[in-house]
Amino acid sequence: MIMTQRKNCDLIVIGTGPGGYVAAVRATQLGLKVACVEKSERLGGICLNVGCIPSKALLDSSEYFHLAKDHFAEHGINTGEVSLDLPAMMARKEQVVEELTGQVRKLLEGNDIDIINGTARHAAENRVEVTNTGDGDPVVLEAKAILLATGSAPINVPGLGFDGKYIVSSTQALSFDAVPEHLGIVGGGYIGLELGSVWRRLGARVTIIEMLPKIAASLDGQVTRTLERLLKQQGLEFRVRTKVSKAEIADGKVRVTLEADGKETVLDCDKLLVAVGRRPLTQGLGLETIGVETDTRTGQVLVDEAYRTNIPSVYAIGDLIPGPMLAHKASAEGIAAVECIAGLPGEVNYDAIPAVVYTWPEVASVGLTEEQVKERDIPYCIGTYPFSGAGRARCMGEKDGFVKLIAHSKTDRILGVHIIGPRAADMIAECVLATEFGASSEDIARTIHGHPTFSEALQEAAMAVRKCSIYAS
Ligand SMILES: Cc1cc2nc3c(=O)[nH]c(=O)nc-3n(C[C@H](O)[C@H](O)[C@H](O)COP(=O)(O)OP(=O)(O)OC[C@H]3O[C@@H](n4cnc5c(N)ncnc54)[C@H](O)[C@@H]3O)c2cc1C
Repeated sequence: MIMTQRKNCDLIVIGTGPGGYVAAVRATQLGLKVACVEKSERLGGICLNVGCIPSKALLDSSEYFHLAKDHFAEHGINTGEVSLDLPAMMARKEQVVEELTGQVRKLLEGNDIDIINGTARHAAENRVEVTNTGDGDPVVLEAKAILLATGSAPINVPGLGFDGKYIVSSTQALSFDAVPEHLGIVGGGYIGLELGSVWRRLGARVTIIEMLPKIAASLDGQVTRTLERLLKQQGLEFRVRTKVSKAEIADGKVRVTLEADGKETVLDCDKLLVAVGRRPLTQGLGLETIGVETDTRTGQVLVDEAYRTNIPSVYAIGDLIPGPMLAHKASAEGIAAVECIAGLPGEVNYDAIPAVVYTWPEVASVGLTEEQVKERDIPYCIGTYPFSGAGRARCMGEKDGFVKLIAHSKTDRILGVHIIGPRAADMIAECVLATEFGASSEDIARTIHGHPTFSEALQEAAMAVRKCSIYAS
């Protein structure tokens, strides 16, 4: 006999990704009684299970493999013949995911958050039905507020339907059981570049096909050009201004038809990763039942500055709503949304969200690109400094890349910082803080940076804005 359980709380959070679980914890700190619904057995969302974390685990492992194989000798370390144990590398990645998702469960349990495993669907403005639960019995939850944090799914391109074996999404590309001889990747965004780097380092031939004239199109142009050059040196192949019109499977290969300059060519590969972007995951959520408004073009849930939808009790955050699809953006919105629900002035500064591409070298940026500054007619000055001039980078044998700082030419306020180089992902934090505080380039220039560190390159770039760099010629 089916027994429907009924529960009441202050807030229902649907989805336990970096948006949902962070929001749930903050809500309990604010005194709300919270229930979280998650359809997957493991908590943590795309980020922890098939996104940020497993991709970075593989990027780190494959980087070690590449260093051991090709660079240890220059440091005087002889490791003999270096070989790849892919199952062990994958098992380590799984272990990292297992540990971190387990930590999220402990975190939620430790905060007395009711975790309900199952698929949530709106039944009314304040009511959610959960089916496919562990014991099979549906659960009906009622709350004053409901926070949607169901994230996103890969975009399916017509003619390139995922079959999970030959034509794959990032999820399968994180778990190949052998290194493909030739991996084709549709999309030169950060997911394509990161996963392309992993498999290239492990020995695959990798061809990245991009419709636009350049890869990583949202980055500063000067950074993109350097990134493309460095990735080409690592053996990645690029076909830009090229469209994929179809892909067929024959004799265990993927035959991809490409169109460029009005001509058709064919590319044969063993696997084709389609990474052209992600779409908000609203399907099956019952938004139409209660009339939650979505963008007719993008499918994103529309919210006001308090993350409230057109239905007063329903809020949304993360990949589900407009803005960059990034884990830290989802978490910041989760905190702001529940603060608004609790009557506090929660908000997110969208001008100070860092973006990172975890290739090697890494790329990290915050604020406006030089192209955007020009487009907006803002008077600006630029300071750049190469990592080849930073002692620490030389010690590590990492001298590619540079720091570029863009400041307002009249007020000196920092408008954007773009870093391509070793440890850019960590260095950008100082620039985000500077942006958040409305700092000037002189503030960074006069801040004492430890020696020898990578961040000295940032200080020199800041000095170069006013032509005061000590080391730049
Ligand atoms: C390969 C890859 C690499 C990435 N790397 C990075 C990175 O390095 N840095 C970064 O900032 N971002 C990265 N991202 C993006 C990042 O993962 C997302 O921006 C982030 O996970 C979004 O968080 P979220 O909370 O909005 O949703 P998600 O993390 O997608 O979580 C949504 C959760 O909701 C659950 N759910 C959905 N529907 C229902 C339902 N009806 N009922 C119950 N539960 C439901 C899902 O199972 C999921 O657990 C990467 C993404 C991918 C794919």
